[in-house]
Amino acid sequence: MRRSKFTPGDFNLVVKRARAGRGLYTFDPIPKGVCIIEYTGPVLHDDDWTGSNNRYLFQITEKKAINGWNKKNLARYINHSCRPNCEIEIRKGRVFVMAKRAIKSGEELAYDYGKEYFDGFIKPMGCRCLKCKPRWRAPKSAKRARH
Ligand SMILES: [Zn+2]
Repeated sequence: MRRSKFTPGDFNLVVKRARAGRGLYTFDPIPKGVCIIEYTGPVLHDDDWTGSNNRYLFQITEKKAINGWNKKNLARYINHSCRPNCEIEIRKGRVFVMAKRAIKSGEELAYDYGKEYFDGFIKPMGCRCLKCKPRWRAPKSAKRARH
């Protein structure tokens, strides 16, 4: 693949237990502005997802979304944050996660899921991001995360 701004860097990313279920962490430092990973999966059209409760639908346009519900799509493990270190860029119908700032080794990756998702899925449970709950810890007896 030709390298461009949107070619994901070869970063060592690992899924680990996080404040909100599981999360995606980087073991490498990531410079600001580079592409970290692509959010991948089959493209769905609005007829296909009407009424669907799939949390991994990433809407690209009013009528198109990527179904990220597949384990190869590591980007699906990236959690929401109200003060994120990543941001999304949509380019030619593809979804790329970019570094919003320089990210240190060991940090959890997060981007802002947007108001609609936040109000629908996160607000009802309470947001557990670093900004909203700086001292939150998972209880020891917490059940295994569902995803
Ligand atoms: Zn938050």
